[in-house]
Amino acid sequence: MRIATAVQQMRDARIEWAASNEVGFVPTMGYLHEGHLSLVRHARAENKLVVVSIFVNPTQFAPHEDLERYPRDVPRDLQLLEAAAVDIVFIPTLEEIYPSGFVTYVEPTGPLAEQAEGTRRPGHFRGVATVVLKLFQLVQPHQAYFGQKDAQQAAVISRMAADFHLPLRLHVLPIIREADGLAMSSRNVYLSPEDRFAATVLYRALQAGRLAFEERPAGNAAAVTRAMTDVVASEPRAVLDYAEVRDPHSFLLLESLHAPAVLVIAVQIGSVRLIDNFLLRADGSWDVGIALQ
Ligand code: AMP
Repeated sequence: MRIATAVQQMRDARIEWAASNEVGFVPTMGYLHEGHLSLVRHARAENKLVVVSIFVNPTQFAPHEDLERYPRDVPRDLQLLEAAAVDIVFIPTLEEIYPSGFVTYVEPTGPLAEQAEGTRRPGHFRGVATVVLKLFQLVQPHQAYFGQKDAQQAAVISRMAADFHLPLRLHVLPIIREADGLAMSSRNVYLSPEDRFAATVLYRALQAGRLAFEERPAGNAAAVTRAMTDVVASEPRAVLDYAEVRDPHSFLLLESLHAPAVLVIAVQIGSVRLIDNFLLRADGSWDVGIALQ
């Protein structure tokens, strides 16, 4: 496994593989868990060359957010990636990605970038789109792998790929969950034991939302929202940010229930803000993720 820390090293490593038309890429912020590793395994199975990046991207954090305390453990990440037979790990320094003089950003606009997470995290998707386009430029993947965990991010990146005619195929893979339903996230490590217990409220709320959806398949989205909100209200440690039914591509709010749809939820528990979702695909089947035993 090669480790590239500079842009030029990444370019050099990629040039050696210039003849390959099977380059798979998984961008991450590190502190890897089974969610990340499921993306890596798919990339490994479907490509000759697998590149994983680890970069805690400052431009996607708002000033009040947890950039400084975002969890990091590069030695452990490298062990996991080596065991997953990754070919190249790109771990650029801040200065490599944002050298002095950097001024050019990708700015996703409209409801897709400005509602839901976009309202709560101003500038977030601008930072995400910018860094992902930069990474795509350096890695030049044929296929890139993202998690449904960050449903809106996946929609923003898909839109960007279409808008900029990027010559790659995107894969959005199911959410990997703990046995009790909590979606795996690097940020779960911040949860106190009591908060960890309370954090299952997101999954429970989504299940209630799905049930309400199935009871009134052509009904009003308000009933689904209420079902989710009620569950969150029953957990004293949880503060609801939003629980909504949206279109999974445009991220516009749905008023009437139909497929495709995504039930999205964001909840504050202690000092940790958690997000989760259930996806109702266009064919009427649900993607609620995969719980590990
Ligand atoms: P992050 O390191 O949080 O930026 O995540 C890197 C990639 O892993 C993103 O595409 C995430 O959506 C994905 N990811 C994070 N958590 C999970 C999970 N529990 N299941 C599946 N994918 C995930």
